[in-house]
Amino acid sequence: MNVLVINCGSSSLKYQLIDSDSEQVLAKGLCERIKIDGRLKHSPAGKATVEMDSPMPDHTAAVELVLKMLTDSEHGVIRSLDEIGAVGHRIVHGGEKFASSTIITDEVIEAITECNDLAPLHNPANLIGIESCRKLMPDVPMVAVFDTAFHQTMPEKAYLYGIPYEYYEKYKIRKYGFHGTSHSFVSKRMAEILGKKPEELKTIVCHLGNGASICAVKNGKSVDTSMGLTPLDGLVMGTRSGAIDPAVIEYIAEKGKKSISEVIDVLNKESGVAGVSGVSSDFRDLDNAILAGNERAKIAMDVFCYRVAQYIGSYTAAMNGVDAIAFTAGVGENNATARAGIFEYLGYLGIKLDTEKNKLRGEEVQISTDDSKVPVWIVPTNEELAIARETVALL
Ligand code: ADP
Repeated sequence: MNVLVINCGSSSLKYQLIDSDSEQVLAKGLCERIKIDGRLKHSPAGKATVEMDSPMPDHTAAVELVLKMLTDSEHGVIRSLDEIGAVGHRIVHGGEKFASSTIITDEVIEAITECNDLAPLHNPANLIGIESCRKLMPDVPMVAVFDTAFHQTMPEKAYLYGIPYEYYEKYKIRKYGFHGTSHSFVSKRMAEILGKKPEELKTIVCHLGNGASICAVKNGKSVDTSMGLTPLDGLVMGTRSGAIDPAVIEYIAEKGKKSISEVIDVLNKESGVAGVSGVSSDFRDLDNAILAGNERAKIAMDVFCYRVAQYIGSYTAAMNGVDAIAFTAGVGENNATARAGIFEYLGYLGIKLDTEKNKLRGEEVQISTDDSKVPVWIVPTNEELAIARETVALL
């Protein structure tokens, strides 16, 4: 079956058409500047990538163009829309309502809408993607796959904040965690690589991209993760601060004459390694700046690595041990400097870095030495494939 995987943002839409039998990507692409003007990048397997400007007054127009390109005689990969058996939608926030993926019905759409307050930037956009696809493919079954669902197994002691309980009861304020599809995919793959069942392992997954989070996976279940009510918590990221003393918010607001939401904007968009270094949120730029002797770029890298190492220590304690550690996503898969920096703190666990293997990037490889007490691997993530698998499994 061909599964169309849709990841719909407020002004963008990423897609992949995946043959679920062979797990090959038949085509992938990106619509950008939706509601502004509209730009499409479409890459069909075995054919040249097409880039074009095309008006996208709304998301439905973007989906329409994607379907046209997929069935186009020159740039397409299927003959007609009948060859799309299902659509899998990435949904950011499922609150406490969704502990697993689900087939999309009117009731499910309503329940996702009820989670909008928890992810006001993402969920409404995700829902627009669903509505657009329903309009254009009314008979094709659709599945919602949630970023938060995998973490619904966290125990209360991990997801409750130390604030009055009524805020949890009234407003559902708690840790939810994100990147669940990736943490689930990578932890399962880590078990496969080691020839174990997920139920036999304590794994720490470090999803280090522009957005970054860590997950403690015990016996195949998420027992803790570093992002919180929103993706702002936890690690120091590309542009996000990660965890800070909450009182800092009022302090910046007073000193900088900003509103709370302006301060939160600074913490989301102008902080992280970009804010500390003053150079960039991109780790390739940081690497280059460090090589050129930029002191603040070096400090930003140190801050990033130190925080990751702190979480690894914390989750080793939470699980009373760790059997495997996996690095994934843009930085985790590709950035040797960050990985080496993190390893410097892991000696107490008997973990040793293989400096030659650590030079490899983007491939499944063990980067710890053979005598390292805990194996550490690069395990490339594939959220689209995970969504396609979930979609087929549910149908
Ligand atoms: P997100 O999905 O959260 O937007 P990604 O997982 O794509 O983020 O990660 C983006 C980060 O990965 C950037 O900081 C980028 O520098 C880093 N990255 C990607 N490719 C490489 C590479 N070849 N070498 C070093 N860093 C890389």
